[in-house]
Amino acid sequence: MSETHKTRMLIIGSGPAGLSAAIYGARAGMEPIVVQGLQPGGQLTITTDVENYPGFRDVVQGPWLMEEMQAQAEHVGTRMMYDTIVDIDVSQRPFRATGDGGIVYEGDTLVIATGAQAKWLGVAGEQELGGKGVSACATCDGFFYRGKKVVVIGGGNTAVEEALYLTNHSDDVTLIHRRDSLRAEKILQDRLFANPKITVLWNKTVEKFVAGGDPEGLVGVDLVDTQTGEKSHEAADGGFVAIGHAPATALFKGHLPMDDGGYVLVEPGTPKTSIPGVFACGDVMDHVYRQAVTAAGTGCMAALDAERFLAEADFAAEAAE
Ligand code: NDP
Repeated sequence: MSETHKTRMLIIGSGPAGLSAAIYGARAGMEPIVVQGLQPGGQLTITTDVENYPGFRDVVQGPWLMEEMQAQAEHVGTRMMYDTIVDIDVSQRPFRATGDGGIVYEGDTLVIATGAQAKWLGVAGEQELGGKGVSACATCDGFFYRGKKVVVIGGGNTAVEEALYLTNHSDDVTLIHRRDSLRAEKILQDRLFANPKITVLWNKTVEKFVAGGDPEGLVGVDLVDTQTGEKSHEAADGGFVAIGHAPATALFKGHLPMDDGGYVLVEPGTPKTSIPGVFACGDVMDHVYRQAVTAAGTGCMAALDAERFLAEADFAAEAAE
């Protein structure tokens, strides 16, 4: 018989959303289990400096912040499982999730906090220069390019918003897009075109992020014109890839309603999915804000709603006896 772990609150994912749900859930006596997934700690473990998470006067490191969050969750009574869920059954309570080694987890409530990942271009230099000039989050890293030249790659809402945001720090922002028109909403386009700090390079793809300098960092991008094939180079101290995010929701396909982008749909303003007792929090349901602090906030909301759900379910069960 396979090993089975039961809990009042099963949490899948261990970024700020999952761990905040765990902290609140544990303190409410729900003895949560967190199944950590392939990237324990989530996206913050692959960033370096974090300056916008409240509570720290000095810059902290993303991996350190997540270690602290995990330790806090464990300290108040969360069980952490180093496992990856490969199968899910939300058709009845308790909800069941199966790990890749066959361990079964049963939860009276389920909190989905599997997060999302920025899409990358997959071109030369991109990975090597991550944290050294190449980033996928202007809100996180824009501050480090004060007075420097930056490029943003993409043509959707995210790219345009990031370009606009970066003008708070840099007077020289170039948006690089592979076509001759943007996908972003008109109002954002209007703001972009009206901003004298932003230049747009049309019909260009990035072939390579170029390293140089001492200490080594990004010095520019090699470009190819999609119409003529002509090659060019654009100098840049910072390169922001803004070509979309992919939520980690493959596991829930067919089990829960999602939007066109694969984000789990929730009741507006809440972490409630269409299945009572199943909640979604953090980047897996939020394609707009996508910040560690907002993920933590919705994780807290999920735990509070899970607690209320169980209280009502327990009351109904007692009344029926
Ligand atoms: P989108 O999918 O809307 O846009 C991605 C952009 O990146 C497109 O312009 C696309 O080009 C380009 N792109 C994709 N792959 C590549 C590649 N390999 N090389 C070069 N360019 C590439 O993603 P967003 O993150 O911008 O937005 C995702 C969702 O979130 C959307 O629904 C958006 O509206 C929403 N959003 C809403 C916000 C708001 O309401 N304030 C803020 C941010 C996002 P192409 O156009 O040629 O396909």
